[in-house]
Amino acid sequence: MTEASMVIVGGGKAGARAAVAFRENAWKGPVTLISDETLAPYDRPPLSKAAITDDAEPQPTYLLDEGMMASLEVNFLRGAAATAIYREAKTLALADGKRIPYDRLLIATGAEPRQLLLAGSERALLLRDIADAVRIRNEFSEGRNIAIIGGGFIGLELASSAAKRGCRVTVIEAQPRILMRGVPAEIATRIAARHAEAGVTILVGASIAHIGPDKIVLSDGREIAADIIIAGIGAAPRFKLAEQSGLAIENGIACNTYLQTSDPHVFAIGDCCSFPHPIFGNERLRLEAWRNASDQAIVAVENMLGGQRQYEAVPWFWSDQYELNLQIAGLPHLGASVVKRVPKDDALILCHVSAEGRLMGASGIGQGNSIARDVRLLEMLIGKKATPDAAQLADPSFPLKSLLKS
Ligand SMILES: Cc1cc2nc3c(=O)[nH]c(=O)nc-3n(C[C@H](O)[C@H](O)[C@H](O)COP(=O)(O)OP(=O)(O)OC[C@H]3O[C@@H](n4cnc5c(N)ncnc54)[C@H](O)[C@@H]3O)c2cc1C
Repeated sequence: MTEASMVIVGGGKAGARAAVAFRENAWKGPVTLISDETLAPYDRPPLSKAAITDDAEPQPTYLLDEGMMASLEVNFLRGAAATAIYREAKTLALADGKRIPYDRLLIATGAEPRQLLLAGSERALLLRDIADAVRIRNEFSEGRNIAIIGGGFIGLELASSAAKRGCRVTVIEAQPRILMRGVPAEIATRIAARHAEAGVTILVGASIAHIGPDKIVLSDGREIAADIIIAGIGAAPRFKLAEQSGLAIENGIACNTYLQTSDPHVFAIGDCCSFPHPIFGNERLRLEAWRNASDQAIVAVENMLGGQRQYEAVPWFWSDQYELNLQIAGLPHLGASVVKRVPKDDALILCHVSAEGRLMGASGIGQGNSIARDVRLLEMLIGKKATPDAAQLADPSFPLKSLLKS
């Protein structure tokens, strides 16, 4: 395939990593990276954290800059939205009328924040790109009332960042607790306590009646002062381009374990795709996680170049709020019981074990990097489908590394 052309749509984490991976795999042919953003690919995790709290004006943390793209001979098309895929002709159409032929196409179009559908919700700011982060940061001055709708990761990271900037923060969550999706209650309780300590008010089981010019009114009549409103109510996979071209969709662009879509010449990776996970009984997953975007890029590129490698990396996600670091590995919801491991004072790791004794997930919280090593080892054990002894998991002095050898 030396003359073939590799085209990537989407210049986020997944697309940028894929561009590099082509050259790491000694691919000498053309690589085109197409992004509807005007900036070179940059990282999103800092946007809810350092971009808001640092004293300096936020600058994008570039994943690939002009120099790197030039030395990798990546043809980068910025501010270029892909509008259609003509699969029979293997051609991509751009909004400006250009046509880009491809031999293999990689879709890495990410996800976009879900919009609130309430009267007055046009007031709510969303966070996905650097311009959103700059706008939000400019609103976070001392003493302002910030109402955050949604007690998920983005909402809570922004709450922590707003509290650090001296704002009065209220988080409004419709569910009975924060982080209902994917985070065990015991860990969510610790996070909620830390927010309370920082002066953040978290209202759970709260439904919004309407949004006024300077407040949010709840269905039970309570009024929340709101100079600024931010909606962090989840993200939706961006698959319109794929859907319109007739590719199969299943909670995102449906891929097989090789990250190939229903068209063998088209692959999809990152937040926009769903895939069956071989080590979890082929449960179909769609992950919104930084490392997944990167790991999938590496595997998809190998397969686009003729490889046959299944994607089987263990899901892993982190969040930073205040001095706390939260990490989730594997799929905790597949556990039938929990074994607690306390690696250090103030740190907690829950090991989620199936009825058959298999380690399915690990979730932890601690200060700084206090849980990082153990969660990494647990993640490796999850990948090996290990059935560790509960007493050894619970004993913080027991070296988890030794289990990897057995
Ligand atoms: C504020 C924030 C904080 C986060 N923090 C964490 C964290 O702490 N830990 C963690 O694990 N994950 C975190 N994430 C998630 C992580 O950043 C994402 O999982 C990752 O960015 C996904 O990469 P992606 O390339 O799939 O998608 P994206 O980064 O969304 O990139 C997709 C790109 O494609 C472009 N695009 C879309 N459609 C088109 C089109 N038709 N034509 C051309 N271009 C198009 C988009 O504009 C975008 O540039 C965070 C995300 C956000 C937004």
